[in-house]
Amino acid sequence: MSERIQVIKGDITKQAVDAIVNAANCSLLGGGGVDGAIHRAAGPELLEECRTLDGCKTGQAKITKGYKLPAKYVIHTPGPIWRGGQRNEVDLLSSCYENCLKLASRHGCATVDFPSISTGVYHFPLEKASVIAITTIAEYLKKHKEIQRVRMVCFDDRTKDFYQRALDDLGEDL
Ligand code: ADP
Repeated sequence: MSERIQVIKGDITKQAVDAIVNAANCSLLGGGGVDGAIHRAAGPELLEECRTLDGCKTGQAKITKGYKLPAKYVIHTPGPIWRGGQRNEVDLLSSCYENCLKLASRHGCATVDFPSISTGVYHFPLEKASVIAITTIAEYLKKHKEIQRVRMVCFDDRTKDFYQRALDDLGEDL
């Protein structure tokens, strides 16, 4: 088990870290789920900044300030919608995690919290998503010592159990 990757149960809008990740949609103009919760907690200035960003492609990421959130930055990434697995969903989900971490590095963020991208209304199977997330984060952290800690902040026990199992199965010290 690695201490640089952690799995917790919690509300990502409450986390005082350098950056939280938003499981956004391509418009970057807000939505339901964790996206709605982040916009509500950050206040209307977040939407104002998002309007200037011209959207974001699936698997890519864009960064804004955190406004009223305890986190300094929000990194917005639209995850893939699960359409059965033949539409590049696995690579796109991995790209989400990697591109968010690249932006975090570039902005000097040492602590980053992720929600479970794509496993809500986008219906990515949780077991596959958890393994992709944990392995992608682990590969990145091996090469990038500037990121001190990454947490998966899971909203419910079932989600937390899957990510914890994926982390235990990794069996590596980072
Ligand atoms: P997607 O469209 O990428 O599937 P959702 O927001 O529908 O995104 O769901 C992604 C995950 O975020 C789900 O596991 C959902 O339970 C979780 N979630 C919802 N609200 C929060 C929150 N405040 N903090 C952390 N996770 C949350």
